[in-house]
Amino acid sequence: MTETLFSKIIDREIPADIVYEDDQCLCFKDVNPQAPVHYLLIPKKPIDRLTTAEADDQELLGYLLLKAAEIAGQAGIGDAFRLIVNNGPGAGQTVYHLHIHILGGRAMGWPPG
Ligand code: 5GP
Repeated sequence: MTETLFSKIIDREIPADIVYEDDQCLCFKDVNPQAPVHYLLIPKKPIDRLTTAEADDQELLGYLLLKAAEIAGQAGIGDAFRLIVNNGPGAGQTVYHLHIHILGGRAMGWPPG
């Protein structure tokens, strides 16, 4: 697995505003926030995108979803937040280390852009 921006954040080679960390995941503020709260939650395991996750990752993926909801609650947006996983360039993925966007703190439109 090649190094990515996010693996460098995990390794503290690049600074980030970290809001949560445990042995399985790291959550930090997006450098270009699209909402008053915009965090990125990443597994420490280097999975490059959702479609390359494997059956063995099922527990980790469930853990990340539950953790995202918990972090949203701690950020004060527990009643209204949006989670986004961009998968592949056509969907807007730019960093190839799986990440869940946690967005909230403003009204969200639908459909998304
Ligand atoms: P994607 O487009 O791959 O779904 O999301 C990548 C996200 O990473 C973007 O929202 C972008 O603003 C964010 N990002 C890119 N570089 C950095 C960085 O160096 N630090 C942080 N905290 N976020 C970054």
